[in-house]
Amino acid sequence: MEKILFSSNAVGSILVECYKRGRGLETGGILIGPKSHKNIITDVVVSSIHADRESSFYYQNEMDVKFLNQELRAYQLKGYEHKGNFHSHPTGMINLSQGDIDTSLNMLRSPSYKLNNNLIMCIVTESNHHADIPIFSYIVSEDDNNNSVVKRMASRMLPKHCITECLECI
Ligand SMILES: [Zn+2]
Repeated sequence: MEKILFSSNAVGSILVECYKRGRGLETGGILIGPKSHKNIITDVVVSSIHADRESSFYYQNEMDVKFLNQELRAYQLKGYEHKGNFHSHPTGMINLSQGDIDTSLNMLRSPSYKLNNNLIMCIVTESNHHADIPIFSYIVSEDDNNNSVVKRMASRMLPKHCITECLECI
């Protein structure tokens, strides 16, 4: 299985956000990594208080997107880019929902995201699929017939300084 490399900071931020609200509400944010490497996540930006969070629904509305874009801009100036999104599934479903796949395709097709047909989507959930860390990662892309292709990815975690100091060796 192909891997996504996460910094321990990114994993920590994802888990803090998804667990601080208990298991009742979906929440999430965006994944950020170096432009030079497609499957490395070094940082995350968690959605603002403006995002819509319900028990089976999380939505980055206009105000939230404005906030996320502002934060993203600072990373872009340093050679980083938006790699994908993460969100929680309080229901325990480890897979992307049909809604998640539809959202992914919209993002892949939108020129404003510049995703290069490679969108990382992470689902955070407690499930009986034993996982060391409750984050399930996928890459969504679009094939030649405009159908979605969802690939389950393994993950590896390292301290952020190990990743940023040695990007060439990864
Ligand atoms: Zn979902």
